[in-house]
Amino acid sequence: MITQEQVDRVLRLSGNGLPCVSLYVPVLPEQPGRSTFMTRVASLLDGIRPLSLDSSLDHAARLSLREDIVKLEKSLAFEPHQPGAVAVFACSGKDVYEQVWLPRPTRERIVVDSDPYVRPMLAVLDEYDRACAVIVDRGTGQIWEHYLDQARELKAIRDRTLRKPDYAAGLAEDRVRNKADELSKRHFRKLVGELRQLFGRRAFDVLVVGGHSYEVPNFLQFLPRDLRDRLIGDFTVDRETATPADIRNRVQKIVSDHAHQEQRQLVGDILEAKAAGRPPSAVGLDETLWAASLAAVGTLAADEEAAAPGVVCDRDGLLARSGESCPLCGDPLREVPDIIDALTETVIDDGGEIRHIEPETELRTHLTGALLRFELPPRPAAAG
Ligand SMILES: [Zn+2]
Repeated sequence: MITQEQVDRVLRLSGNGLPCVSLYVPVLPEQPGRSTFMTRVASLLDGIRPLSLDSSLDHAARLSLREDIVKLEKSLAFEPHQPGAVAVFACSGKDVYEQVWLPRPTRERIVVDSDPYVRPMLAVLDEYDRACAVIVDRGTGQIWEHYLDQARELKAIRDRTLRKPDYAAGLAEDRVRNKADELSKRHFRKLVGELRQLFGRRAFDVLVVGGHSYEVPNFLQFLPRDLRDRLIGDFTVDRETATPADIRNRVQKIVSDHAHQEQRQLVGDILEAKAAGRPPSAVGLDETLWAASLAAVGTLAADEEAAAPGVVCDRDGLLARSGESCPLCGDPLREVPDIIDALTETVIDDGGEIRHIEPETELRTHLTGALLRFELPPRPAAAG
């Protein structure tokens, strides 16, 4: 599982003068004839081996690179079970080695640079909300992190409650109730304080609240505006009978419904912008490819099921569905089996956002659409 701490650690990495190796390898579902994960790793590492022997680099840099290669070979000697991608950031000379699993395949690549190459990792992670689930009860509170398909408990808070009101001590019944309310208020305030700290550190994107049917509404009333804005749903659960798996499923359903709702909203925004003529937008694969060729895509929406062959220009990065020579530079175009894949990577390289659209929307027939950074010049007629 990827934790926020791990992502933060990768973002803080620096070779401080030594080269950092960043490696991305897709882990694809089993397919006959595909090259194996290990073959891909070996060929990527072969690509940087000459650099580790290059005498124009200083000795410490070469040594660090050579150690990185050995370490990568060793730690990636087995194919991971889960489809997606593996990303590794290494700089042996600074004792840096971070390996993360990503939930979607990325293009395979290896980069040696003074800083880790994090953009593909961030583009993938950016698609998923990190959810904080708080399970409340009068005297207890559990704070869970839900991310991708994983959940882990971050904190459990237990406060004093009046479990057995001691009538014998002479407390009137109202006074007992008032005392209990006061304790639960104090408890809720403490929980809110914890949540505020977590959200203040930007550890989470969204909040889900669960608990007994008689506690959840009370707790929701305690949520200050900033946390209420992050709340995407609540649910009631019987703490006596619910298993951790039940709770996890309830949270994940709320998180995924919310993600689907945002995806539908984005498609709606793109189609609306197209109809209104502003802000600049693209609908359909041809137009989106042309926009990406010009680095105009701010947010790309690609239907989850979209796939289509296409062509790319290796000189200037033009993308199109078909053609023999590049309309921009005249070079011959190279055929690729999936142009959506090339489109996604181009948008990532240009600093745009990617959104895969999972529910069925109008985008299913258009395949792709985008919110653009600027108005596009007319698309040249397909050359060749
Ligand atoms: Zn070209």
